[in-house]
Amino acid sequence: MKLVLKFGGTSISSASNIRYVAKLLQSLSKEHKIISVFSAITGVTDDLIRITSLIQKGNKDVANNLAKKIIKNHMQIASQCVKNPKIRKELVEKMRVDLSELEELLHGMLLLGEVTPRSSDYLISFGERLSINLIAFTLNDLGSKAVALTGKDIGIVTDSNFGEAKPLMDTTRLRVSHTVESLLEKKMLPVIGGFAGADQYGNITTFGRGGSDYTATIVASSIKADEVWLMSDVDGLMTTDPKIVKNAKVLKEVSYTEAMEMALFGAKHIHPRALEPLVTKKIPLRIRSTFNIKNSGTLVTASPKADTQKTVKCVSTIRHTGLIDVRGGSMVGAPGTAATIFSTLAKAGVNVMMISQSPSESSISIIVKKNDLDKAVNALEMNLLGKIIKKVEVTVDVAIIALIGSGMRGIVGVASKVFAAVAKKGVNVVMIAQGSSELNLAFVVKDADCNTAVQALHDEFELAKIN
Ligand code: ASP
Ligand code: MG
Repeated sequence: MKLVLKFGGTSISSASNIRYVAKLLQSLSKEHKIISVFSAITGVTDDLIRITSLIQKGNKDVANNLAKKIIKNHMQIASQCVKNPKIRKELVEKMRVDLSELEELLHGMLLLGEVTPRSSDYLISFGERLSINLIAFTLNDLGSKAVALTGKDIGIVTDSNFGEAKPLMDTTRLRVSHTVESLLEKKMLPVIGGFAGADQYGNITTFGRGGSDYTATIVASSIKADEVWLMSDVDGLMTTDPKIVKNAKVLKEVSYTEAMEMALFGAKHIHPRALEPLVTKKIPLRIRSTFNIKNSGTLVTASPKADTQKTVKCVSTIRHTGLIDVRGGSMVGAPGTAATIFSTLAKAGVNVMMISQSPSESSISIIVKKNDLDKAVNALEMNLLGKIIKKVEVTVDVAIIALIGSGMRGIVGVASKVFAAVAKKGVNVVMIAQGSSELNLAFVVKDADCNTAVQALHDEFELAKIN
């Protein structure tokens, strides 16, 4: 099989983990054609992003110290992950070249005291540039022929939407298939840096947080891979958060659409666009654990087997949210009220996560992240209070609970079962929303009631017995 394996940052957080992953790739490559994609080492992208905000604040010393920490960490791992002194020396030299480019860039940005979307992407792409050297040289140390390549090197071409770039798929497909296939022909192992590509002018761009998943699926679709494996520190997508419900189970098989819903709800963070390149080509995806390879994880396909079709497959939660209730008599029957409310929030930079309006039109409930709550309420009060709205009420700690499963579509009685189960535990439902796709049913409760409600639903739908 032709497999694209993507490893998250925790899979490569130490020299011994890197050697473990390299050995895994080496043994898989005896039977399969292996293309690997890597994230930055855990925490490195966060640190690089922190550096950009320190530059903006003119906090030179702290920015330099953080950069030194990144450099030291990588050099230390570089000195440990390769045993052969000659290969180790080559690795250290390659790291020095990349790190001095990082230092020069940082120096320039600090001199200007300015961060543009373009320079930010250039800087934050370094996490992956550095991590792939460590893996490729470790593979060489183990006797495999590996080569480290960035997204730009293999030919991922994107638009110039820095921070959230999209691939130009036709060009990308041509270039990536050419680069990768010719390496495979030479029996080389391509070790690809995730998260970044380059626009048509050669500027480095990134796909947004978690973007290495997207790199993996872009590559897979370009070379018509048989499967993509997302390797991380979880065994797969789960029926719910195992921290809340002890007997939560790994789901054996879900559909692309279900996985997308679950990813949005943060069951396991998958880049929101990552499934797109797979859908048209029907390339299956597996979500599995690097360190528990015996477990085959969760398989994501276009059409899961019938015996895995349950009405509800997963109970997810989004915590740390707040509810804003907007009321006012003059909202009734007044076209454009909702538009005004939402554009006011949009202008204030507030992301609306969930909404519902009663048919009487006298109130609209809005859920936002807790961090955005003050900003949202200020914007509404400053601009609209006393005009189209009479009252803004806030509930600080609420949680969204969502049930996901394509088997809910067209099935009568799911909602009644859900709310009866929750009511039996004395939990009050504050707000409800269901999209017309019927793929998910979401409702809001006080955060303090969240765990009780999740446990009740997990029991009600017998999710512990799902497989
Ligand atoms: N390193 C990037 C991030 O932390 C991309 C990724 O991990 O997928 O967001
Ligand atoms: Mg990651």
